[in-house]
Amino acid sequence: MVDHDVVREAVSSLGLFGDETTGLLHRFGVILNASPVNYLVGRELDFINAFGGASKSLSEKVLIDAAQWCANATFQGIMDSSEWAQLIAPTVTSIPTRLDGLTAIINCLGWGKIADVQLNEDTMELQFKVYSSYYVNYWLDRFGKADHPICYMWTGVAGGIMDLMYGSKVNEFTGEEVSCGAVTGDDFCVFRARKVRKKFGL
Ligand SMILES: [Zn+2]
Repeated sequence: MVDHDVVREAVSSLGLFGDETTGLLHRFGVILNASPVNYLVGRELDFINAFGGASKSLSEKVLIDAAQWCANATFQGIMDSSEWAQLIAPTVTSIPTRLDGLTAIINCLGWGKIADVQLNEDTMELQFKVYSSYYVNYWLDRFGKADHPICYMWTGVAGGIMDLMYGSKVNEFTGEEVSCGAVTGDDFCVFRARKVRKKFGL
């Protein structure tokens, strides 16, 4: 399997700051951007609020869908990058090792920490925990406990990871947050992705 410590050291050595000439953060074949969590989560909540209560469920699904498209593009960029070719590709012998390599990189992005990954290759179902999902403390500090899961980005990422592992296009898999720390008070959230289509509940 992939040595996560080696990946972490290598990602750290890439220097996650803007290039001297362009000021942009080109890494892994994509342009990264470091933004404060308050901004990232706050603009998602602004988006939901702008549509109003009656459309809450739909606007949440739009956010999840946007994250899934983003996960497909960004993670494909990561897996096509020269960094991936050097660091991870030599250890990739199967879908589980490919997933493990991608997990090692995602865990360096400052989004929280993926753990307890369970991949069922027969049913093509993925379940994992995320410790310290960046949404949770923001929500708890601002609103107290939530009455429903609120980690939209991670939910889309769960589906996006499986699109890339087994699918042939975006949205072939659907992510779901089955337990959210903002609801339970736990320091982790649980996500699942399965090959079921229920985009926008249609
Ligand atoms: Zn959560």
